[in-house]
Amino acid sequence: MTVDLRSDTLTQPTPGMLQAMMSAKVGDDVFGEDETVSQLEAKTAALFGMEAGLFCPSGTMTNQIAIKCFTRPMDELIADQTAHVYRYEGGGIAFNSAASARLVNGYRGLITADMIAPEINADNIHYPRTSLVVLENTSNRGGGSCYTLEQIKPIAELCQARGLKLHLDGARIFNALTHTGDSAADYGHYFNGISVCLSKGLGAPVGSVLLADADTIKQAKRIRKVLGGGWRQAGFLAAAGIYALDHHVERLKIDHKHAAIIAEALGRCPWVSGVLPAETNIVLFDTLQPASAVIERLAGKGIKAMATAPNRIRFVLHLDVHPEQVEYAVNALKAL
Ligand SMILES: *Cc1c(COP(=O)(O)O)cnc(C)c1O
Repeated sequence: MTVDLRSDTLTQPTPGMLQAMMSAKVGDDVFGEDETVSQLEAKTAALFGMEAGLFCPSGTMTNQIAIKCFTRPMDELIADQTAHVYRYEGGGIAFNSAASARLVNGYRGLITADMIAPEINADNIHYPRTSLVVLENTSNRGGGSCYTLEQIKPIAELCQARGLKLHLDGARIFNALTHTGDSAADYGHYFNGISVCLSKGLGAPVGSVLLADADTIKQAKRIRKVLGGGWRQAGFLAAAGIYALDHHVERLKIDHKHAAIIAEALGRCPWVSGVLPAETNIVLFDTLQPASAVIERLAGKGIKAMATAPNRIRFVLHLDVHPEQVEYAVNALKAL
């Protein structure tokens, strides 16, 4: 048996999703004539209590467009030191926005208003102008840890008081909502921008939606165009996104249950030195031997995984990991 736990981007479209894609009504989206794209953008915006949406090919593009909309050249943003926008977007903050990043040492990728406040620069020509805070919910490097809206509120208030924009990297926002029970619609009160990935745990093949107010989305559309992201009959992909929102959100709790089962099993393995609490669909654990050696042994049992540090391995659960595969994995881990 093969159990691929490398990433929740590996999902294959389901038959129902493929059917929805094949029957999508499409048009040229650069002309504003793809009704399925427009429907996805409006649906996602309404879901989060935001004015407008922009469908983009990747989460990286939505984040980078948001950063460009919310900063000017020479500005600085504040984010946790593990933030995807800083670590995994190829230096895009500097390249696309000519901005710098001030990194905060949060706890499992999560930061607080108290950590942010001292990092906001005074109005002084020596300092870059602080203009943006970026949060990540759930936190990837934090092992799927999440903020509640209660924790986000003081950060939003600080940003408002200091004239900063607040953007959410919501690559796994639905995992966070599933865990916290918060309502998506309330998110619109707190954020200027939200990136929502459809191609992670939701199982769509491609795509993310950037949400913001209508003026910001108008500007975002210009930036998407200049990045080469103006796409034509993208409705086939938007249809997969709509299908994912309608059918794959409710089931995320299954992935979280699977992650908890695997984390519990790892906790009993003598070759594991520690397991981070699995709140959502990611399990991070530390190994006594080098992670690369453990990954090789896991591969021998058909379990695919990735290292996130020399002695740390990440497992990610998703809709193509079925209960019998979880059971198989648990037994294989015990016997490793
Ligand atoms: C995957 C991911 C993204 C976006 O990834 P793309 O591969 O560009 O779609 C953004 N933020 C986080 C936290 C992610 O895990």
